[in-house]
Amino acid sequence: MEESKKIRENFELQVKNLYRGDIKFYQIERLITISEISEKESTNCEICKANVEKIKEISENVKDYMSGHPKRRREYENKFDSIVHHLKKEHQYYSKEYFTTIYSFWGLLLGLISGFLISHFILSAWMLESIAIASVFFILILRQIGKIKDKKNSEGNKIA
Ligand SMILES: [Zn+2]
Repeated sequence: MEESKKIRENFELQVKNLYRGDIKFYQIERLITISEISEKESTNCEICKANVEKIKEISENVKDYMSGHPKRRREYENKFDSIVHHLKKEHQYYSKEYFTTIYSFWGLLLGLISGFLISHFILSAWMLESIAIASVFFILILRQIGKIKDKKNSEGNKIA
């Protein structure tokens, strides 16, 4: 873990000159974690190898990226997103509440549709009530499933 160690040091050196809000906003802690994961995966993956270099370049020019200039900020966000996307797609690393969020959304959708169908075919006088109850029902269930999946990822160290 040579490179990510250097990356962490670079960030730690410069973090003193940054605003707390910026550190949080730019997700620097998360980026350091991502550099460690990328380095671990880089033994078998050329893209991860290149991504470690990308993060290293960011860590050397933090001040420049966080100067508040919209162009630099967008550049930073694009790099960040592409690295996260690669880890998700090729190596199955997910953000902390990835499945909870996705499954809650599916729960809402399922609730709306089933609530509508129930009221349409069975309880025609109770459309809003049917939709509301079905939505809450499915959101709660699917959210729980998402939470279990997120927990499993976290236990398997598959969080990026
Ligand atoms: Zn990779």
